[in-house]
Amino acid sequence: MSDITSLFGCNVFNDSVMRERLPKDTYKALKSCIEGNRRLSDEVAMVVANAMKDWAIEKGATHYTHWFQPMTGITAEKHDAFISAPSEGRIIMEFSGKELIKGESDASSFPSGGLRATFEARGYTTWDPSSYAFVKDGTLYIPTAFCSFSGDVLDKKTPLLRSMEALNRQALRVLHALGKTDVKRVIPNVGPEQEYFLVDLENYRQRRDLLLTGRTLYGAKPARGQEVGAHYYGDLKERVANYMKELDEELWKLGVPSKTKHNEAAPAQHELAQIYASCNLATDQNQLTMIMMKKIAAHHGLACLLHEKPFAGVNGSGKHNNWSISTDQGENLLDPGHTREEKIQFLLFMAAVIKAVDEYADLLLASVCKAGNDHRLGGHEAPPAIISIFMGQEMEDLLEAAEKGEQVKAADSSNLKSGVSILPNLKRDNSDRNRTSPFAFTGNKFEFRMVGSSASIASPNIILNTIVAEELRQFADVLETVEDKAAAVEQLTRETIARHRRVLYMGNNYSEEWREEAKRRGLCGVSSAAEAIPFMIAPKNQELFLRHRVFNETELYSRYEIMVSSYVNTIKIESSVMLRMARENILPAVLRYEKLLMDNLLAKKTCGLDLPLEPEGSLLKDYCAGVRQLKERADALETAMNGSSAPEDSIEQAAYCRAAIVPAMEELRATADTLELLTAHDAWPFPTYEDLMFYI
Ligand code: ADP
Ligand code: MG
Repeated sequence: MSDITSLFGCNVFNDSVMRERLPKDTYKALKSCIEGNRRLSDEVAMVVANAMKDWAIEKGATHYTHWFQPMTGITAEKHDAFISAPSEGRIIMEFSGKELIKGESDASSFPSGGLRATFEARGYTTWDPSSYAFVKDGTLYIPTAFCSFSGDVLDKKTPLLRSMEALNRQALRVLHALGKTDVKRVIPNVGPEQEYFLVDLENYRQRRDLLLTGRTLYGAKPARGQEVGAHYYGDLKERVANYMKELDEELWKLGVPSKTKHNEAAPAQHELAQIYASCNLATDQNQLTMIMMKKIAAHHGLACLLHEKPFAGVNGSGKHNNWSISTDQGENLLDPGHTREEKIQFLLFMAAVIKAVDEYADLLLASVCKAGNDHRLGGHEAPPAIISIFMGQEMEDLLEAAEKGEQVKAADSSNLKSGVSILPNLKRDNSDRNRTSPFAFTGNKFEFRMVGSSASIASPNIILNTIVAEELRQFADVLETVEDKAAAVEQLTRETIARHRRVLYMGNNYSEEWREEAKRRGLCGVSSAAEAIPFMIAPKNQELFLRHRVFNETELYSRYEIMVSSYVNTIKIESSVMLRMARENILPAVLRYEKLLMDNLLAKKTCGLDLPLEPEGSLLKDYCAGVRQLKERADALETAMNGSSAPEDSIEQAAYCRAAIVPAMEELRATADTLELLTAHDAWPFPTYEDLMFYI
């Protein structure tokens, strides 16, 4: 498998396959539909379906599935064979235009946040021709959107497409007002960087917490963590290298442009970055990446952990969301450009992003909040849950000049002298690399770093697209009406930057000073998902979603309810698993070990040699105290779990979970972890952190 060019996309019904396999007219009609210019007719769909089926069968497919993204954050699929009803005992391979375009499925078991009445269980999936179909494991996967019988959306793809449309609409208004009438479409692009952990599959299976919750609920810090920094960019262990190689090849076949792989900061942590694509495509591709990461791990005796914080005490995993906006002419609107005109336009778009992030910081927080991310944000190497933007010195200077109304200069190609004469002088990245910022400008894109590793990137991008669309709308309203556009652009930029400067921060976001400073500046920050979820339905945010037709009111409330119940359920499951592990695994193990210590002491006492009873005596005392505390804290956790009378899945219940259950879990864990360090390794009931992180 060395020829990547022939491998890449070999299982994808992509543009070149379409061009080759479809009659010219059909291809043109489909293309125009993909570009959003018209609806697909039944006739065209029929021809496409047939060509797709023939192609898929050649690739070994026997089934097709409408692949969709329910509000669980992962994808769903139900497979149907390409067969017709038997006639005279024979069947033919069949796939109609209708089956391609629309599917009907029982949606009653997907979360709908009370949106779909239970008597109406039907859900519809409709083909999204802007994301290519592909063959995987003998099935033709057709990317689809998912909605209820009444037409309210039940998925993450539809609002993402709507938000892209909103951004397109408003950005076009601005560009056209500035005279750029040749631009026909504006597209948000995303390049996700996916972090993950690999652990040995056998060890994984022995940890109920990993298996059932995706993270370790217990585990003392190993003697060595990530202090020495040896893992980051370190050489790949053979087993990991083989895994990454197979993963790359399988992703390439599916048309996912997997580009970069390396070891990350924590032991057993790694990263994969793909080449950026349009928001929608990148979201589908990232989902596919997560699926393949898990699947291929098993081939190598590994388990892939996508949770935000599988291990306490070392880095958690995120998914850096690199976001930019470009035109159909190939211009990146977040690229500073070279000419004065380019820079002025660039600054206007920058101003829109800065204003958006400041005014809707609450929504950005809501878009990434989930129980798992609570453990990560504010922890090792992850920004605290306070929104600010890092611009880099050069950009700060440029913004300051714009704010003061100074003449914006044309390109100054500041070269970074490498100090080594044979190395080319690198053009300095327009931004330094402040790794602590949650939202950093990195030369020609913004990197939103709060997104959790297990999350769908649809949610943060729905928010990013929509809030920037809103600011561009306000700008367009001004620009469309004034005579002197140049003066208006300058004034808009200046005033916007001056008003929203408070959200820019260059310092260390991990520091205590920053928390204080952010408070003084009145910036939006939260300490848990339970606090961030209600931001979704704040009146100003409802207005935003309605105005840009991203969510209607019912859809928004359903999403809010799903976020609440998913938070509550996560804590409920975690606390139950934790309690049962305490009682069914840890307690029996420590009681056995306690007995061993006691036997020792007894043997010493009765051996007749009149030996001193130390250290066994004090060891045993400490140990017994720990065991007693374990039992008490397990009981306290149980009391906390039963202590709320708030309605299930209400925001009050979520707040209760955060305030009462999470601390009880932390206490129980602390005791268990202390006991782990007092217990012989082979007497501990499941693999330790060291076993998990270092033995691959
Ligand atoms: P880092 O140094 O931040 O770890 P990586 O190379 O791991 O960088 O990832 C950078 C990501 O940003 C890649 O997915 C890349 O495709 C993406 N990217 C690059 N340019 C753009 C752009 N203009 N818009 C969106 N994403 C981009
Ligand atoms: Mg990276």
